[in-house]
Parts: sequence; C-alpha cells; structure tokens
Amino acid sequence: MFKFFQNLKKHSSSPQLLPFWFLGGLIIAQMVFNVLWIIWPLNWLINIALIIFYLVMAVVLLGAVDRASRLDLERNQINAMISSINDPAISYTENFEIILVNKAMEKFIGISKKELLGKNITPELSNDARYGLLSKLIFPSLAPVVLEKSVDLYPEKIKVKFYQPKELIVEIITTKVIDEKGKTYGFLRIIHDLTQEEVLRKTQSDFVTIVAHQLRTPLSGLSWILEILAKKDMGSLTLEQEKLIDDGRKAMQESLKTVEDLLNVAQIEEGRFGFQFSMANVEKIIENVFIKFEPVAKMDDIKLVFHRPEFQLKPFVMDPLRIKLVVEILVDNAIKYNVKNGDVRIRINPLEGKPFILISVEDTGAGISREDLSRLFTKFFRSKAALKGQTSGIGLGLYLAKNIIDRHGGKIWVKSALGRGSIFTFSLPIDPDYIPSQ
Ligand code: ADP
Repeated sequence: MFKFFQNLKKHSSSPQLLPFWFLGGLIIAQMVFNVLWIIWPLNWLINIALIIFYLVMAVVLLGAVDRASRLDLERNQINAMISSINDPAISYTENFEIILVNKAMEKFIGISKKELLGKNITPELSNDARYGLLSKLIFPSLAPVVLEKSVDLYPEKIKVKFYQPKELIVEIITTKVIDEKGKTYGFLRIIHDLTQEEVLRKTQSDFVTIVAHQLRTPLSGLSWILEILAKKDMGSLTLEQEKLIDDGRKAMQESLKTVEDLLNVAQIEEGRFGFQFSMANVEKIIENVFIKFEPVAKMDDIKLVFHRPEFQLKPFVMDPLRIKLVVEILVDNAIKYNVKNGDVRIRINPLEGKPFILISVEDTGAGISREDLSRLFTKFFRSKAALKGQTSGIGLGLYLAKNIIDRHGGKIWVKSALGRGSIFTFSLPIDPDYIPSQ
C-alpha cells in the first residue's frame, strides 16, 4: 500500500499517466451521471464497481510505469557510461542488430550512429569496404591472426590482428547484456586498440635485439681470449694473474648469459624462436645439464642428485635444445638460490591417467615468499632477497622457461616454503598430439 502511494507521488506528473487521469475524469462524470439518472441502489453499485475497477487499474498501471521508468534510468545510465568510455564500444542483440554505439566507435569505424542503429551485421559483410571492419570486430574469429583468447566464458577477451582494411591489433572484451528476467538480450563489446602500443613494443624489442647482437660478438671474443690465457698456453701465470683471469671469465659468462636471455626473449615475443621438434631423450638432457653445472655446484658444496624414473621412459617429441634450456634455468636457480651444502634433486614422474610426464627440480634454498610466487614467471621479476643477495641474473629465466613449456603444451608451477626450499615442476606431453600447432 505504502509503495502504491510512493509510486503515485513519484509518477503523478508522468506523461504516460495522462490517459489514466483522463479516464479518472470520465469515470467521475459517469458516477455523477449515475447518481442523477439511475435509481438507488443500482447507481451506487455501479459506482462502487467503477471505483474498484479504477483502483485495480491504478495499481497495475503504476507498477508498470515504475518498472518502465527504472529500466529507462538503467538504460540511460548505461548509455551515459558507454558514451563516456574513450574506447570504441558497441552493443547488439543476439541477432546482431546494433542497438548502441558510442562516439569513439563511430570514429573508429568511420560510420555514423544514425546509419548504424538497427543495422544487422553478418559475417558476409567482412569483405565489404564500408562494414568490413565492424563485421570483423563482431565476428573476431574471422581475423587472420588470433593472438590471445581467454578461456573464461564471460567477459570474454580476445586479442586479434587484422590486415584489412588497415593493419590493426585490438583486444575485444565482450560481456553479455542480460534482461530483467535473466535472459541474454545481447552483447556489449569494448574495443581496445593496441596497434600503437604494439608498434612501440616492437621498436623496444628491436632495439634490445640489436644491442644484444652487437654485444654478443665482442663478449664471445673476450671470453675466448680469457679461456686461452687461463689454459696457460701463452705462458705461465702468477697466482694473482690467474685469479684475475678467473674473475674475468666468470663476469664474461654472466654477461653472455644475460645477452642470450635478452635475445631469446625478444625472439619468443616476436614469434621468431623457431621451435624445432624432434624425438629426444629427456634423461640424457638432464645428465648433460648436471655435467655442465657440476663445477658450479661444487663451489658451494651443493649436491646434484638425479632420481631416475622408476618407469620406462622412451624418447618423445620435444624441442631438445629448448627443453635443455628450461632444465638449465631451473638447475641454475636451484644452485644460485640454495644454501651452502644444500641439495638439488631432479625427479621424473608420470602424470596419472594422462600422456604427460612431470619433471621436478627441488632445492633446499631460502624458498620464495607467498607474495612473490604470483609474479615469479613474469618478465624481469627478481625477488627482494635475490636483489639483496647480489646473485647474477636479470629475471628473464623463468619467463623464458614458461614460454617454452607453454609452446610444448605443458605447464610449469612452483611449490615453496620460506626457509625450506622450492620445488619447480613442469609437465610435458609424451604424445605429440598434445603439442599445440602454433
Ligand atoms: P634470475 O635468476 O635471472 O633473477 P629467473 O627468472 O630465473 O631470473 O628467476 C626470477 C626470480 O625468482 C629470481 O630472481 C629469484 O628471486 C626467484 N627464484 C627463482 N628460482 C628460485 C629458487 N629456486 N629459489 C628461490 N628463489 C628463486
């Protein structure tokens, strides 16, 4: 009852209620007529029926007007929100009929709102000179290159590259528009134009590649000279000279590793890493990595232990050089972030019920804090502890490792407890059908 009066007060001047007020006037006139011209009590019976009819109408009508005004308000708010977004936005029904566009979208596709509203967009329009771009934005699976696609259903995110009508890299975010009954009414798409960002990123990446390439040759040359001197082929050395040369060799190797990491990351990001898949034996790869790291581990009295698999592991398809790089990164870290007299253990296990194996690299080092765990596989991340400990590295190893494992269709993760060490594990498919085609 209270709501009825509230609605009456709120909407009494609404133009939608004008016919209702007019009907009220007619009913009053009719009632006066009844009193004057129809015999009692029939006249009042009719009048009471008229009053009840009018009240029922009032309740139903006011409810409908209130609902419509709330929907109007919501629509206006959404309109205002979408218009104020700087990114192009468009909304369309399930039948791909356009119901809303903002100024940024008009500018982006070069078609006016007046022309767009009510227009049905089809995939066939993707070759149309005028509507091609819009059709591709609404049907992004038509794009020649899909760079990323979210796995979650909604909001859906897809990053695509178009070459026609112009070269564009866009991220398209789609959310469902639900009506008041919870039924999907249409979709809202917001377009994030990343073309400029990508050009900038490419320029930076090219710069890094050129500098790294320019550094690699002289660094390799210097490293080679120091190797020769260390072998004493050019004459004997004093203890002091030997120590200096040894320090120089170590510094040179670290610099070369940084340069290699930078080149690898630039190549991976450009899609030029050139993965080469072939049959390989992962046990052999691990053995070779251990041979390479034996002298480094010895310096800190760290024990390298390979727990051979308890099942028969045949060679399977992988990029052996890249998988070797992943094992090297993990073993290098397990030594670098370990304690004196610590252990590094590698295990290979099957993944129950799936054609995958799990390779884990376990250390007895300082471990990784909970807050660092989520950022571990991102580019250039180094924990405060790593920075303070002055260990070499620039935070690209795990980022590279993740990219390599992703390309193989596997996953990489870590379990760690502060002060107790870390276990890095990655999975690899032993069935080549599980390796993604791109
Ligand atoms: P880098 O070793 O060159 O810094 P990585 O990408 O290999 O780069 O590692 C990123 C960061 O993750 C390291 O700086 C370190 O803070 C942390 N980290 C990696 N491996 C370990 C480990 N086994 N134990 C503790 N911290 C680790």
